This record gives sequence, C-alpha cells and structure tokens, in this order.
Amino acid sequence: MKSMNYTFKENALFQSKLIDIAYKNLLPMLFVNVAAAFGAAWTVASGGHVWAWAWLCLMCALSAIRLFDWVRYRSSTKSRSPTGPSKLAYWQQNYGVGLCASAILWAVLACGVIDREASYSGSVARYTLVIIISALAGGATGVTAAMKSQGRLYITILLLPASLALAIFSSVDVIIAALGLIFLVVMLVTHSNNHNVLRQSLDLEHDNISLIADLKDLNGTLESKILDRTRALKEIAHNDVLTNLPNRRGLMEWAKALMKDHSNLSVAVMFLDLDRFKQINDALGHDIGDRVLVNVSGQINKQLPPGAILARWGGDEFVVAMPLAAAEPNIVQYLCDRIIGAVNHPFVLNGETIRLGVSIGLAFYPDDDKSFTDVIHAADLAVTEVKRTERGRALSYSETYAEVQRRRYDLSRSLAQAIGTDELTLVYQPVISATTGRVVAHEALARWNHPSLGAISPEEFIKLAEDTDKIVALGEWALYQACKDATGWGKGGAQIKIAVNASIKQLVHSQFDLKVIQILNQTGLSPARLEIEVTESLFDDEYLEPVLRCVKNLRELGVEVHIDDFGTGYSSLSRLHRFPVTAIKVDRHFINDIDADGRVIVESAVMIARRFGFEVIAEGVETIEQARILYELGVDKFQGYYFGRPQAEASHHSFDTLWVSETAIAQAM
Ligand code: C2E
Ligand code: CA
Ligand code: CA
Repeated sequence: MKSMNYTFKENALFQSKLIDIAYKNLLPMLFVNVAAAFGAAWTVASGGHVWAWAWLCLMCALSAIRLFDWVRYRSSTKSRSPTGPSKLAYWQQNYGVGLCASAILWAVLACGVIDREASYSGSVARYTLVIIISALAGGATGVTAAMKSQGRLYITILLLPASLALAIFSSVDVIIAALGLIFLVVMLVTHSNNHNVLRQSLDLEHDNISLIADLKDLNGTLESKILDRTRALKEIAHNDVLTNLPNRRGLMEWAKALMKDHSNLSVAVMFLDLDRFKQINDALGHDIGDRVLVNVSGQINKQLPPGAILARWGGDEFVVAMPLAAAEPNIVQYLCDRIIGAVNHPFVLNGETIRLGVSIGLAFYPDDDKSFTDVIHAADLAVTEVKRTERGRALSYSETYAEVQRRRYDLSRSLAQAIGTDELTLVYQPVISATTGRVVAHEALARWNHPSLGAISPEEFIKLAEDTDKIVALGEWALYQACKDATGWGKGGAQIKIAVNASIKQLVHSQFDLKVIQILNQTGLSPARLEIEVTESLFDDEYLEPVLRCVKNLRELGVEVHIDDFGTGYSSLSRLHRFPVTAIKVDRHFINDIDADGRVIVESAVMIARRFGFEVIAEGVETIEQARILYELGVDKFQGYYFGRPQAEASHHSFDTLWVSETAIAQAM
C-alpha cells in the first residue's frame, strides 16, 4: 500500500472520518457493555460480593454519560459545521475518557473478586468474569479499531490488571491469569491489524475520490477547450479569407437577419459548383487555383441584383441567395443564365486561358423546406444531380427530387444484393508508426462498383447503408473479408494489424462481440491483430450500457477499440475514461487545419491520451510538414495520402522518418 501524502485539510478530514467510525460503533458497544455488566454483577453478587450491585449502578451511570456524549456528537455532525482540529481533539478526548473509565470499572470488578480461598461460587464468578472481559476485549478489537491508542488502552486496562492480580494474589487461578495475558497480546495485535486495514481502506477511498476529481477537472477544461475550438473552427469568422465573401456562417447570419425583418419572405437559393476547377487546380497549382476562385467570384458577384448575396460554401462551391418580392421565378432563371454565361466566359491568367463552367442547383425557401439550411441542402442535392447527369446547367430541386429519391431507392436495393458479391471490395490504407516509419496497420475501406452506375462513393453508399440498416450486413462482410485478407499477408505482414470500421448500429443491434469471436475463429486471425474503429457516437446516452459492455468484451478478447473521427462529435470526453479504448484517431479536418485551430485539438487529444493511457493517430496526413508538426505534438501514428492512398493490395513498405528533426534524433542518441 503506498503511503499517502495528505495536506493539512485532508488530514483533518481523515481524522474526522476515524472519529465518525468510532462514534458509529459506540451505540452497539454501550448496549453490549450494559448487558455484560448486568450479567457480571449478578454472577459476582451470587458469589457473595453484594457490592457488585453498587458497581452496576456506577457502570450504568457511566454508560448513560457516554450515551449522552454519543447523542451530542450525532447532533453536532448533523449541523454539518466545519470540523476544525480543536473540535476533533475534543471528541477524540471524550470518546477516549469514556472508554478508559469503562475499562477501569471492569478492572475494579475483576480485581474485587479475587479471593485467596477458592470457594466454588467465587471460582465460578471469576471464570465468568474473565470470559466476559475477554469477550469485551475481543469485541473492542473491531469496534474501537478506528481509535488506535484509546482502543489499545481499553483492551489493556480490561485484561492486564485482572490477569496480574489473579496471577499474584490467587494461587488457584494462575491458568486463567496466563490465559488472560495471552488474550491480551492477541487482542492488541488484532486491534492493531484492524486499525491498519481501516486506514488503508480510507486511503484507497481518498485516492479514488481525488482521482475522480482530477479526471473531472481535466475533462472539464479540455472538453470546453475542444468544444470552443471545434466551434471556432466552424465559425471562425463570417468571411472567407480568400475571396472576402461571406462564408457559411455569414450566409446563415444574413438569412437569420432577413427572416427576422420579413416574415412572409421567399428566398431563391442557387448552389453553384464550378466545373473543371479541380483540373485547373491540379495542373496549374494552388496559387493559380486561388486566383481563379477570386476572379470567378468577382464575375458572379457582378451579375447579382441588389439585395442578393453570394457566399463561399467551401472549395469551389458557392451559394447565391436572393429574396423574391412577388412571383418572379423568371428572374431566377434569368439570373442563373447570366451566372452560367459569366463563368463560361474564358479569361487569361498568367498567360494561360482559363475555361471554367458552373453547375447550379436551385431550391426555394419556404416552398421546398421550412428550414433555410435544408433548402441549401436541397439545392446541393439538385447540383449533385446536375453534375451526375449533364453539367453546366441549372436544375431545380423539385425537378430532381423524384430522381434523387429513385436513385436512393435503386441503390438501396442493389446494395442489399451487392453484399457478398464481387461488386463490393475492400481497399487498404496503411497506418504508420511516427517513431519508426514502419507500417503498423492497414485500414480496410469499402468500395462499391455498381454494374451500371459505376463506382459509388463511400460517402453515398455508407450513408445509405446506415439509413437503411444495411450497414450491419455490410459491416459483417467487411470484417470477415478484412480478417481473411490480413491472414494472408505473409511474412512481412504477419505482425501488421487490420483496422475495420464498425457502425454504432452493429455494436447495438447485433451481438457484435460474439460475431467478432466467430469471425476470428473462422479466419484464424489473432485477436491482437484486430482494431475496431467506431466514431464518437459510441458515447451516446441512448445506447451507453450495451455498447460499453460490448467494448469491454472486445477488450477482454484482446481486440483493440479506436475512436474514429475524433473531435467531430461534441462533448464526449467525460465518457472517455469509462471506455477502455486503445486509441483515438483525430479527424482529418483537424489535420488539414493543423497550422491553425486543428493544432489545439491534436494537443488536447495527446494530453487526454497520455492521461488515460492510449495512443493518438492522425488521419488525412497529406504532407511531410503536417507529419513533422504532428510528430512534435506527440502523435503516435500517421495515416493519409502522404503515406499511401487506399489500395486493393496492402503494401507494407517502410518510410524514412524524415519528419523527425535532427535535434530530436540527437536527443534520442
Ligand atoms: P474514415 O473511416 O474516416 O476513413 C478515412 C477516409 O479518409 C477514407 O475515405 C480515406 O480514403 C480518406 N483519406 C485517407 N487519407 C486521406 C488524406 O490524406 N486526405 C483526404 N482528404 N482523405 C483521406 P473513404 O474511403 O471515402 O471512406 C469514407 C468513410 O466511409 C470512412 O471514413 C468510413 O467512415 C466509411 N467507411 C468506409 N468503409 C466502411 C466500412 O466497411 N464500414 C463502415 N461502417 N464504414 C465504412
Ligand atoms: Ca476509419
Ligand atoms: Ca476517420
């Protein structure tokens, strides 16, 4: 047992707990004492010592005083006034005096019955008395365990004088005297042991309480920090730095203010997605790409009538919102045509002729939805449809709605049939140790090649599978396939782990832990090589208990459990210490933003991870500069395009640890 270092305040608390325990035991002790006193007085009086009745009166009076003391103590603790050191000493003293006075009375009784002549009734009285006193001393090893010296003194006064007197004055009772002395030693040792056990359990309790308080503190500050930063990341300002247009937040603020002032307002929302921008960006570089965006947004802005707003939604996506006075749908179509015309117009930048195009999705507030955000989403869906079918035109949500629904329906049906066929495959993306540059795991990612529609993005079909609960079957297939593939990685890959994504629905609905055991048995993969990635939805109140049980069972099996997309789900940290997870994977958006706010998230993640004893993985690492910063922040593992894109064949080759700086190497040597 480690010894605790208490502060003065903690020490007082400790003492007051001991006194409290002692007083809690006082009432039963008094009962036993009075009952024993009656029995003893009767026996002793029967042996011819009538004065024993007077002794009984004294003992009853003393017990009454001690009872009164107990009542006073209880009422003083009920008032919950702070217990200062002087108060503690006071109660300790009261308790001790009562205890010793009682022991002295017993000793007097015992010595009083000592008799040189061994009459039969005298012997019976002495035997009975020694039994009673020994029983009291035995009981005291427990009930007075909280008070070290007082308890020991009590036991000693009870047994020692009587035993000595018997040994010295009564020639016939030496055996009882010897027994009394042996009892005394045993009782003292037992009392001391009980006292130590009690102290240790209080120490443990104190340790637990302070640990929990520490965790609460840590969680509190980190959680609010992460919440703040996540929010800040999303809402950093109302303006986009590059184009100086309002960003998403700015657009929402604009809509909010507009709707506050005009209740019966209609708003047309145009979701603009540039065509061919990605090729220009890839071919001519990010600097030119940025200038193209500035130029194009300026051109679009010039087309807008007064009252309309242009916002940058992100990347090469823009949103135009225009309040509509009366029935003016024609003006919307006219505006779309003007925008398309302006963007299509080629322009020269750095000697290069730039030819862009734009696809537009249209939706109307409040006709298409009562929420402005959902209207933007509807316009976004419409533009996806434009890009999928015929780019460079404008299409309204109502026209595409039926089509979108049909696509969802068709995809959902074909997905059910695709599971288990070669339409669905897995690709593998390496996870690298930040310290050695070696591949330590591969993450399995699902791909769907639809026979007629071609490759469907995981974003689309995983979401669809989630919405329609097909994710359980899909996830089981992926788990089985990944485990099976991993067993065939040969010599170079025999130690490499396999990370498989699991939806929270799998953990809740199916008996996931049993499924994992079954698949491990079928494929022969060692549990230690399997990592299950679950998002922060794991911590949702809704399914806390079954999920916690499942995670614990997986950990007992030896399977690792990682938190995926860390930082995107809100307010999960207070749950983290309840879950025996082995790693957290910081979401790629924060890595992308590592130069700014993402850094705080990574820092916090590392801090939490060190506290709870798990690892931090950074996903979406695209450059060596990011790797360097992440390494310096203490991230344990990397994953991202810099190290390898997801590929059909898992590749195990190591990387030179170029992100480790010279100074770090020098320090390590
Ligand atoms: P995830 O688990 O967060 O997987 C990482 C995603 O980030 C993958 O997208 C990966 O291709 C992408 N990525 C990796 N490195 C980089 C990088 O350096 N930069 C950028 N920009 N992206 C990078 P992917 O394959 O499209 O998967 C999307 C999501 O679909 C996954 O996100 C995962 O949540 C889900 N998913 C995929 N397969 C499964 C599966 O078998 N079961 C379940 N439940 N979900 C799956
Ligand atoms: Ca993942
Ligand atoms: Ca992720």
